[in-house]
Amino acid sequence: MDCIFCKITKKEIPSSAVLENDSLIAVKDINPQAPVHILIIPKKHYSTLLECKDKGLFGDMLSMANEIAKKLGVEKKGFRVTVNTNNEGGQTVFHLHMHLLAGRPLSGIMG
Ligand code: 5GP
Ligand code: ZN
Repeated sequence: MDCIFCKITKKEIPSSAVLENDSLIAVKDINPQAPVHILIIPKKHYSTLLECKDKGLFGDMLSMANEIAKKLGVEKKGFRVTVNTNNEGGQTVFHLHMHLLAGRPLSGIMG
């Protein structure tokens, strides 16, 4: 399957992992919208949030977001996590992922 995030999770595209475990990899966004902009990407392919029924994975994604926020020292000032879903949700890469944004004041829904 020609999926850019599958290539990242399989290390076919070089990217430096901020954090990684058996089911997830976190990498810096190629086009950052804030000083900290990390993508938390499941190693298993789900095209959108709707396709994934794995509640454990949802928990793992949020748990990794907490871990990254602490690791990067943004937890006290604050951060935001989002999962854009389908076209009007702003999804452009159809492999489930969570954004973690921080490092500047984020106003409105997406800042
Ligand atoms: P979406 O709009 O689907 O929620 O987010 C997709 C994100 O993936 C965008 O923020 C975009 O900048 C990022 N992105 C697209 N291609 C690549 C890539 O090859 N590497 C990395 N690290 N990020 C990418
Ligand atoms: Zn994929």
